Amino acid sequence: MTVLQEAIRKRAAELLEAGEVVRVIAWGSGRFANQTSPLFVSAAADAEKIVFNDYCVNTLAKYALNEKVDGKIAVCVRGCDARAINRMIADNQMTRDEVYLLGVPCSGMKDRATDEVLPKCLTCTHRNPVVYDELLGEAVAEPAEEEVSGLRYSGIEAVEAMDREQRLEYFNEVFNSCIRCYACREVCPVCTCRECFVDQLRAGWQGKQNNLNENRFYNLIRVFHIGDRCIECGECARVCPMGLPLMELNRKWIKDLDELFAAGEEGLTDELDNTLGRYKTDDIEEFM
Ligand code: SF4
Ligand code: SF4
Repeated sequence: MTVLQEAIRKRAAELLEAGEVVRVIAWGSGRFANQTSPLFVSAAADAEKIVFNDYCVNTLAKYALNEKVDGKIAVCVRGCDARAINRMIADNQMTRDEVYLLGVPCSGMKDRATDEVLPKCLTCTHRNPVVYDELLGEAVAEPAEEEVSGLRYSGIEAVEAMDREQRLEYFNEVFNSCIRCYACREVCPVCTCRECFVDQLRAGWQGKQNNLNENRFYNLIRVFHIGDRCIECGECARVCPMGLPLMELNRKWIKDLDELFAAGEEGLTDELDNTLGRYKTDDIEEFM
């Protein structure tokens, strides 16, 4: 990690010094040794504050959107960050020339509470950035092709084995514990509406009560909104303070889209191809 950290610091300083970018988004130290947080560097001298270690858990891409400035931004991108950038470009949230991508190969990050590899990293299918302007360090081994579906759909077998009533009961229990803090929305690189439906007071889609009906409504609409754009970064589940298994729902949805419409993985390119936005005459429409 140290070699990569040095490489990131060096390139960040050079890019800022040369005026090629006005800001670099990377990771910096947190309060504890095993904690980091996103870091925004605007002066070459501050590049030495950048860290890269086993605890760089935040996917950075969304910050490139939230922290937009006049001028080009350099962003450190691993597989998840790069796919998020691609998807945000496809969604017209930014253009490719607004960002300079410092590619960083990644072998998985650790949860600081358990010191175990994060669930989202255990099931990662793209450890190397899928797009970059320069790659820092050596690419790491990717999962074999035959492993990919298993990784993408891991953890949903139990849900699929349930009958309709059991599923309802299971998800009611899950949604009951949601406190609607909207952290899952805030961190998601594909939740990019300027005004989320839950905040539209005049339309009144979402009630303010914290009860099962409202929680279920929020969570189901969330998964429908991101369904054919989710880049499977797992950030929503990582940040949920109540530990809701959000990736179970995302993955079931993604698997169905794959099986029914050959949706494939999102964010591998910045081409726009929304599975739910295209129509083919041989689409499966059993209910029609
Ligand atoms: S992060 Fe968790 S608790 Fe917060 S709104 Fe999302 S699902 Fe609910
Ligand atoms: S829904 Fe979750 S896994 Fe999908 S892109 Fe958003 S944060 Fe990542």
